[in-house]
Amino acid sequence: MSAIDHLHLRNVKKKLYWRDVQHLTQTFKKMADFHAQIQDFMGKIEAKNSHEPEFLQAVREVAETVIPYTEENPKYKETNILERICEPERTIMFRVPWVNDKGQFIVNRGFRVEMNSAIGPYKGGLRFHPTVNLSVLKFLAFEQVFKNSLTTLPLGGGKGGSDFDPKGKSDHEVMRFCQSFMTELSRHIGGFTDIPAGDIGVGGREIGFLFGQYKKVKNEFAGILTGKGLEYGGSLIRPEATGYGTVYFANEVLEAHGDSLEGKLCAVSGSGNVAQFTIEKLLELGAKPVTVSDSGGFIYDKDGIDKEKLDYIMHLKNVERGRIHEYADKFKGAEFHKGATPWNAKVDLAFPCATQNELPKKDAETLVKNGCKGVFEGANMPTTADGYEVFKNNKTLFAPGKAANAGGVATSGLEMSQNAQRLSWTRDEVDYRLKMIMQSIHKNCEKFGRVDDSYVDYVRGANVAGFVKVADAMMAQGHV
Ligand code: GLU
Repeated sequence: MSAIDHLHLRNVKKKLYWRDVQHLTQTFKKMADFHAQIQDFMGKIEAKNSHEPEFLQAVREVAETVIPYTEENPKYKETNILERICEPERTIMFRVPWVNDKGQFIVNRGFRVEMNSAIGPYKGGLRFHPTVNLSVLKFLAFEQVFKNSLTTLPLGGGKGGSDFDPKGKSDHEVMRFCQSFMTELSRHIGGFTDIPAGDIGVGGREIGFLFGQYKKVKNEFAGILTGKGLEYGGSLIRPEATGYGTVYFANEVLEAHGDSLEGKLCAVSGSGNVAQFTIEKLLELGAKPVTVSDSGGFIYDKDGIDKEKLDYIMHLKNVERGRIHEYADKFKGAEFHKGATPWNAKVDLAFPCATQNELPKKDAETLVKNGCKGVFEGANMPTTADGYEVFKNNKTLFAPGKAANAGGVATSGLEMSQNAQRLSWTRDEVDYRLKMIMQSIHKNCEKFGRVDDSYVDYVRGANVAGFVKVADAMMAQGHV
């Protein structure tokens, strides 16, 4: 190489170096700006909602991914859309009086948070659980807005429920409670206004009692709830949809990353509706689920939970309303771990399907250390904020609930379509549509969440994709 060539090369290197330094400085400055914007925004939200930790957690996760996007798309910033989305359109709180089997007068608190109706009537489940309060329901309603937007269907977002605990209550007590709850709720819902469904503690039995009471007080047979029984307007596949959808989504994620579910060891938490049908679909697609849990502890079955064992779990939980530790008495070789969660098990994939914040940082670290490659949230916000950071930093594939578990509400949307048409679609038809919806949610997340050739940030993808549709509709409709 001549001396001139050397000089030229040195100049090129120098220029490149300066360009790198300038680029890095700009990136850091941008990140600092975003951080300041996020802090500023959260300051405002925290000031108004200081006693609502779950709600603030859900908002922060969205703000961290959406604010950088709105900085680059100023029309959303100028119209203050994100702050508007954080304020429920309406919050209803009411007394639910009922009488227990001993003749005692009991009072519970009922709620319906009508969060956002920009793209459709309020839609979202009812949760009956002693931990229910305004913060929990606002976080769920907020998440529901983004989730429902992702489904491709015209569904706004809402959530409701009560601090009533169905555990240990007789069928008659549950019926009297549901009737009292619906007597009040019926003033606020309707097929074009707000269409509730089930969530934790609200399954087919409760939806039946709620529907019956609505019909009685309104004298109207209408599709005002989803998750109904097949005999009175329900849809095939609706009970299965959240779990099936979560596994369809996991399958999409794995395929997009050159992998599959075949032979994968899976930790599933929970043993309710979502966990049951997650296990069923995992088995169908060749994976090996090895755990289930309830609030008493978890089962580790090294031989795998097969169809026969799943049938047992379904009977135990849905008919006998028993506890999961009974599994270990029935199937030798299975271990029951009292008071623990399944995240210490050495698995390839994790499916948290129980409840919010059930997977904290230390468990996320254990999963990563044990070689877990993917986390797919069947529940709503089961991973804590610092747990998610662990997965993100380790590039663990991570599908947030608002994308992964959207199959439940999407199939509720399909139930509404069938009710409007006064038709019932076949099992195959509904299942096919569910699969298509999960595929399109996955594509949409990829569009907004791709980081590089080998990694998609599904949290950013889901939040931004969900946000854009709602934000555009809000802008079109004016400041209402
Ligand atoms: N509760 C479910 C969810 O978290 C379903 C809601 C619905 O079907 O309306 O999405």
